[in-house]
Amino acid sequence: MDKPDYIIREVREGANEYEVTKWIGGKNPDDIYRCIHNKVNNRWSCSCPARMFTCKHIGMIKNWIKKGKKSFIDEKPMKDFIKQLFPEGRKI
Ligand SMILES: [Zn+2]
Repeated sequence: MDKPDYIIREVREGANEYEVTKWIGGKNPDDIYRCIHNKVNNRWSCSCPARMFTCKHIGMIKNWIKKGKKSFIDEKPMKDFIKQLFPEGRKI
């Protein structure tokens, strides 16, 4: 089985809201998770079923922010899909 890849994007700049899409194969994401960072109490929440204080998606986002919000993966079908979703041309 292939290891899944993930794409992280910021939903709205400065809104502390992020989206993680999981890609196992094919042209559409297998899962989409929404994570929100509450800066007031520094708590994160995620829409995944883990229901823990922190999950791997939140961990990925924190790491992604730390690394300067660079794209995790660079595969054309996924970029095309993201382009359809976000035609305003947000960087991924
Ligand atoms: Zn999660």
